[in-house]
Amino acid sequence: MAARTLRIGLIPGDGIGKEVIPAGRRLLEALPSSLNLKFEFVDLKAGFETFEQTGAALPDKTVEILKTECDGALFGAVSSPSTAVKGYSSPIVALRKRLDLYANVRPVKSVMTAKNPIDMVIVRENTEDLYVKEEKTFDGPDGKVAEAIKRISYKASFRIAKMAGEIALRRQKIRDSGAPSIHKSPMVTVTHKSNVLSQTDGLFRATAREALADPRFKTVDVEEQIVDSMVYKLFRQPETYDVIVAPNLYGDILSDGAAALVGSLGLVPSANVGEGFAIGEPCHGSAPDIMGKNIANPIATLRSVALMLEFMDEEAAAAKIYAAVDGNLEEGKLLSPDLGGSATTTQVLEDILGRL
Ligand code: ATP
Ligand code: MG
Repeated sequence: MAARTLRIGLIPGDGIGKEVIPAGRRLLEALPSSLNLKFEFVDLKAGFETFEQTGAALPDKTVEILKTECDGALFGAVSSPSTAVKGYSSPIVALRKRLDLYANVRPVKSVMTAKNPIDMVIVRENTEDLYVKEEKTFDGPDGKVAEAIKRISYKASFRIAKMAGEIALRRQKIRDSGAPSIHKSPMVTVTHKSNVLSQTDGLFRATAREALADPRFKTVDVEEQIVDSMVYKLFRQPETYDVIVAPNLYGDILSDGAAALVGSLGLVPSANVGEGFAIGEPCHGSAPDIMGKNIANPIATLRSVALMLEFMDEEAAAAKIYAAVDGNLEEGKLLSPDLGGSATTTQVLEDILGRL
């Protein structure tokens, strides 16, 4: 069978993005040939440095090439200047809009040998809710009043819940292929606050239920939880959760909270996903405090590579990467400084490549 060729856009961005994205590329190049995959790479620009050089944080050419030539992409990080800079706005936010990457997917996983292992993924709606940014301030009878619109639509709620269901099935497929896990069967938890917001969160809840009632998802357990009690349980019994689906704001808060459960930002991957296209992105920022020292933990990026491959239906390749990363963490001999070790970015990468 001819090898499948995948063309990957590489957007290192700023800071440690320039160190971890090359590690991601090397990982793809090192995948065993038995997987029958070939990769081509396109170097693309975005970020604050790009803005300073060209006047655009996200050059049109980057978007065009991603749209027309790439099967997927990896995004490093961009620095956010501490004071507003005229004309500069986050290129990843713009990229999500322009490519309609409507889901932010964030797996949070410990090693299975941890005392209380966890293995969950948060699927966050990324286009609406309070983030439509329609705010206004006016003078009320007792002083200033500010209001913001919370917009929830059937369309966005349906597609995000459907994606959560698909992710649950895919995670089960990876488990069935022998990957160790704490979960036996797929489950999706729908998060909302419809006891208070009966119309907006009520629509999200009902629509998510409808989407997940599709016979395709008959093996998926669907449960729901009010967001506040969910936070409590997330911290007390994180091992309960498999796939969590949430509207934008709750998803934002839950995903940062859940990331704290596993120790370092340097471990947590994410993917920005739309119809048939995914951009893998480590959850951390550009980390200017450690840039240029070759000590950034590359694992968040390596796991983002695996996540991107999952969305390309390359589960076997993804499973190999997850296992190699877990092997490194479980052995614990070559860890980067954020995890208490003294290994360099390159040493951690080499160790993981050796385990493929
Ligand atoms: P930005 O504005 O780009 O988000 P930041 O200063 O907020 O930059 P983050 O990247 O968000 O920095 O990181 C927060 C902290 O976590 C920093 O101290 C950083 O060094 C650390 N950190 C982030 N990513 C990693 C990583 N991959 N490996 C090791 N430490 C990391
Ligand atoms: Mg930050």
